[in-house]
Amino acid sequence: MFKEVIGYDLICDGCGDSYCKNTEYFCYASEEDTEAFATEYDDWGIHEKKHYCPDCYKEIMQPIWDDVAAQEEHDYKQATR
Ligand SMILES: [Zn+2]
Repeated sequence: MFKEVIGYDLICDGCGDSYCKNTEYFCYASEEDTEAFATEYDDWGIHEKKHYCPDCYKEIMQPIWDDVAAQEEHDYKQATR
């Protein structure tokens, strides 16, 4: 017999892409599982409580990462002067 179950997918808040569409799974059993698999194994990211596919995450975070790197370099130069 058949039983209907609820499954979860993760949708990118940037481009609307589906996480599960790009994996071998149709869906995951819980929101927590979906988030864990996406972020730990497939480079999805979370920023300000929104989920982003690898491409969108990089696009959003790159300026922030660059700022952090520039700040660290600045601090390093100050410290070693
Ligand atoms: Zn995206």
